[in-house]
Amino acid sequence: MSDYALLAELLFPHIDKTPEDYEAVYPPRNLPEGAKVTRFAPSPTGFMHLGNLFVSMIDSIAARDGGVFYLRIEDTDKKREVEDAVERILHGLAAFGIVPQEGEQADGGALGDYGPYRQSQRKDIYQCYAKSLVEKGLAYPCFCTEEELNYLRAKQETAGANPGYYGEWAVFRNAPLGEVRRRLRAGEPYVLRLRSDGSEEKKIVVEDLVKGKIEMPENIMDLVLLKADGIPTYHFAHAVDDHLMRTTHVVRGDEWIASLPVHIALFCALGFKAPKYVHVSPIMKTDGGGKRKLSKRKDPEAAVSYYAEQGYPKEGVVTYLLTLANSNFEDWLRANPGKAVTGFPFNFKKMSPSGALFDLAKLNDICKNVISVMTAEQVYDYVMDWAAQFDKTLHDLFSADPCYAKAILSIDRGVKKPRKDIATWSQVLDYVSYFYDEAFRQRFDLPENISAAGAKAILSAYAAVYDENDDKDAWFERIKALCEPLGLTPNVKEFKANPQNYKGHVGDVSTVIRLALTGRENTPDLYSIMRLLGKDRVLRRLNTAL
Ligand code: GLU
Repeated sequence: MSDYALLAELLFPHIDKTPEDYEAVYPPRNLPEGAKVTRFAPSPTGFMHLGNLFVSMIDSIAARDGGVFYLRIEDTDKKREVEDAVERILHGLAAFGIVPQEGEQADGGALGDYGPYRQSQRKDIYQCYAKSLVEKGLAYPCFCTEEELNYLRAKQETAGANPGYYGEWAVFRNAPLGEVRRRLRAGEPYVLRLRSDGSEEKKIVVEDLVKGKIEMPENIMDLVLLKADGIPTYHFAHAVDDHLMRTTHVVRGDEWIASLPVHIALFCALGFKAPKYVHVSPIMKTDGGGKRKLSKRKDPEAAVSYYAEQGYPKEGVVTYLLTLANSNFEDWLRANPGKAVTGFPFNFKKMSPSGALFDLAKLNDICKNVISVMTAEQVYDYVMDWAAQFDKTLHDLFSADPCYAKAILSIDRGVKKPRKDIATWSQVLDYVSYFYDEAFRQRFDLPENISAAGAKAILSAYAAVYDENDDKDAWFERIKALCEPLGLTPNVKEFKANPQNYKGHVGDVSTVIRLALTGRENTPDLYSIMRLLGKDRVLRRLNTAL
């Protein structure tokens, strides 16, 4: 046996599998030509950043044509883990229609043949590959203590050398087998390091699908593969997992670009083909004069839960994120009105290499559009879902009489130019409040051009003639008929031509009635509102206003 083989046996006596065994357990996937395998690989901290949703959306779209999008839990740092994190992650994704086909499940189980999908359950797999690296002389144990590493750093500083564990500074690189054996026997903790053969003179070249060609100096560091507890570092786990799970495209934040030389070195040492990389820029926000990353600490809208709590329609959020993801998406949307966004031919290459700017006003506009073309039934269902969790008052109002609620939501819907009043489900209570006596607050703030006496005259004249059985034309004729006796004109054009001749026009009459009945100046179709309110309520409110 060579010394390397002896060392491997010494370090990993419990590992009896070989990489070939795992290659057989996790063979290349049998997928249609060109199908992509992507993954979302969060740490289970329980917090989902909007950037995570963004990346997952891209992952799931990329895997659409016969590929696989899976969820892998990167839980090698147990300190940051929260208990129901997987449930929260899956829930957070599902709220926006994103469902991984494979991977970790909320109940602790998993879907798919390439698991376990939780890194903490893959220790033997990592150690098997680590063992094989040791056998090949590509990895070795390092027994340096914290103090020794600090001392090394100080020495490098004095010598004007680059800091780090590499080359001749790597004290345990060539430790004799006897010494290793002795230290192991003494129970000294160690980490496993890569024996790097990189040279700073040489470059790695990666064709990133978003950033284009990336050239960086090769890695020269003998970086840590396994920590003292035998748990892998992110880098080592990334290489082993994405290889064995047969990931074709790694979509991740561009903060990982700095680690590319390390990753390429690892894929190379392990004899794996590297995946394609898709490094996504962070979502930015304007702040003062400049731009900065959307921050978990500073911006409530950085949390995915914010959108669920506010009741943003999932289609709206996804549509908005697509505008951030692909520069040609909005043109496509305009050219394909009414088409599901899943039909959009997404392309990595059309992603902006610099960070997209987050724009809440635009998100709101998109959501208003999205909601405006839904049926009343759809809106009702979404609202009920949302309200069950976040708004008991609204939920009670709507469940007391679903037909009435749907009739309210039907006003000005399904027409050529639907109204765009609502951006989020949390705005619905206010939007419908005047249809419910318990939520209605009578307000009567008259516009400047109407006097209190004038308003009073309009309301009492109208109360005297109002007939709940009028059809829409008759209803409007009756309102117009009020004008002349009160010194107003039914003809808006005429009023604009000769304003001095009139106290106002028919629009003012309906405004006053609208205010009395709804407490606001701007509402959907007043006739429809009055039909739904019904005679008793209409008369009561007219009288209260008087
Ligand atoms: N666990 C890593 C993170 O949350 C995953 C990065 C990756 O997608 O590779 O940042």
